[in-house]
Parts: sequence; structure tokens; C-alpha cells
Amino acid sequence: MEPECGLSLSARKVEYLKFILKTGGTVRTNEIASAFSVDPSTITKTLAEITAAGYITHVPYHGVSLTDAGKIHAEFLVKRHRILSLMLTRNGLSPKEACREASRFESQVSKQAIDRICHFMGHPRQGVCGEITHDDGCLIGNTMNTALS
Ligand SMILES: [Zn+2]
Ligand SMILES: [Zn+2]
Repeated sequence: MEPECGLSLSARKVEYLKFILKTGGTVRTNEIASAFSVDPSTITKTLAEITAAGYITHVPYHGVSLTDAGKIHAEFLVKRHRILSLMLTRNGLSPKEACREASRFESQVSKQAIDRICHFMGHPRQGVCGEITHDDGCLIGNTMNTALS
């Protein structure tokens, strides 16, 4: 299996997955629909696609919850947002601007790139909108890459 590249979801799906992680447990479809001001029927279709990708399971009459893979992926999505928004504040943007701008392009940035940037930035602990966590990807993976190149 290919290593996780982090590019499997569209910007909209990334936002839904982060929302489900933040809400925790089983999240109702209507809850997601109202949080994003989207029609419930559109949400149902999008959630079916995220289910097919293996990140969430549909709980009939209750909503959706994250699978184990979905939880890991959602945590990466949060980290990606925080690393990129922090990077933008270090380049002149206000925290609010940085969060907004990062949300526009973050879904296009690979996990490998985020791991590299995290390493380059010295594994910052505090992001603009929350704590940043570190794993083997940014801590070990990159020192190995650096040693090999
Ligand atoms: Zn943010
Ligand atoms: Zn790190």
C-alpha cells in the first residue's frame, strides 16, 4: 500500500472530517448540514463518498462516526491546517487571515510536505488555532529522508 499522501479528500470533505473529529462521537447529518449551511441531501451524498473512502461509518438514523483510519486522517487534517496557518502568520498574515487562507489551499498539500515543513519549523507546539501534535512522520521520517539525500 502507498504511504498516506493526504490528498484523497476535496476541500469540502476535509472541512466535514475536521468537524466530525471536533464534535466527537456520532454526528447527525443535519448537524453537519446546518454547520456548513448545506442542503441535507447534498450532505448525504458527500458523506456517502467519505464512507466509501473508509474514513467514516454511517450509523442508520443517528448520523456518522469516524473509523480508526478516519480518526488518524482527521488528526492529520487538523495538523496540516495548523502548520500551514502558522507558516502564514510567520509571513505577515494575522491569525484570522492565516486560518482563512490556509482553509482555501490546505487540501492540496501532501502529508510528506507537511512533515517536512513541521520539521523545518522545529516542530512548533502551538498553532494559531490550537495545539500541534507530532508523530513519526515529521519526527523520524524526515531525519531519515535528510540523511539519505
Ligand atoms: Zn485555524
Ligand atoms: Zn513535527
